[in-house]
Amino acid sequence: MKINVDGISQGTRTIEEDFTARQLGFAESDIQFCKRISVSAEVTRMGDEVYIHSIIRTNIQQECCRCLENFGVEVDTLFQGLFVPLKQQESPRVHVERSRLVDDDGKVTPYKGKVINISSDILDTIRMTIPMKPLCETSCKGLCTQCGVNRNQEECACGERVISSGYNPFKELQGKFQK
Ligand SMILES: [Zn+2]
Ligand SMILES: [Zn+2]
Repeated sequence: MKINVDGISQGTRTIEEDFTARQLGFAESDIQFCKRISVSAEVTRMGDEVYIHSIIRTNIQQECCRCLENFGVEVDTLFQGLFVPLKQQESPRVHVERSRLVDDDGKVTPYKGKVINISSDILDTIRMTIPMKPLCETSCKGLCTQCGVNRNQEECACGERVISSGYNPFKELQGKFQK
């Protein structure tokens, strides 16, 4: 997503755009997008400094780490940052504005020329929302360790036997050796 600084007058305006992952430079990806990536960016220009506060929405496909089923996850996240032209001396007034606008989550990035490209920021922000261990449901029962059925969809007979042995395969082994 490219923002042309010259095309923005002083003050705030909202830019809304939809992208495919490829348009944002995400050619081959470990993330499967089920929807286009919608960005609603509130762009504030103060002199040549540009503050961007953007809401990013999409839907990505994830694989549940317990049952291995694919499921869609809604992404609704935020990217914000201040973009300052390279080699600009900071005036006290600008510094005050900056500290007012940028909180701990914001970052300050220098930009060259007249165009600010936030594509990689959008993708990094989406990446950060992805859980390390995705779960289709917090109550997902996962796969049966004995017969491999998806325990959310099917009841198998293994359950009772596993419960009676206290879920401990070593106990079963010990039992065998003692016999
Ligand atoms: Zn699951
Ligand atoms: Zn089973």
